[in-house]
Amino acid sequence: MTIFERIANKEIPADIILEDSDFIAFKDIAPKAKIHVLVIPKKCYESFEELPPEVMAKMSNFIKQVTKKLGINKSGYRMVTNVGEDGNQEVKHIHFHILGGEKLSF
Ligand code: AMP
Repeated sequence: MTIFERIANKEIPADIILEDSDFIAFKDIAPKAKIHVLVIPKKCYESFEELPPEVMAKMSNFIKQVTKKLGINKSGYRMVTNVGEDGNQEVKHIHFHILGGEKLSF
């Protein structure tokens, strides 16, 4: 089981921003911007490569609710998902990084 499944199961704590029956958004433990939030499906898919398109469609909608709640939907943000070895993906449970709250310089 990945650490993110354990967060989704509430076995380990996280600073949760928004949650519904299928997805959860929580603060990254090592933020790389003023706002750095991770969005995951509660069900584990290893990466974007395994994510069914219908889950991606629902996740897009959830992410927009998250950026609105964070107040960055108008100011802008960066959304990133790392995939596999060359993408430097550490946690093998798909997650989108949402970075914002400031003008990104990287
Ligand atoms: P990636 O390289 O895309 O797999 O990124 C994994 C991200 O998960 C990193 O930005 C970590 O800081 C973050 N992370 C790891 N463990 C936790 C945790 N327990 N709670 C919140 N974020 C975490």
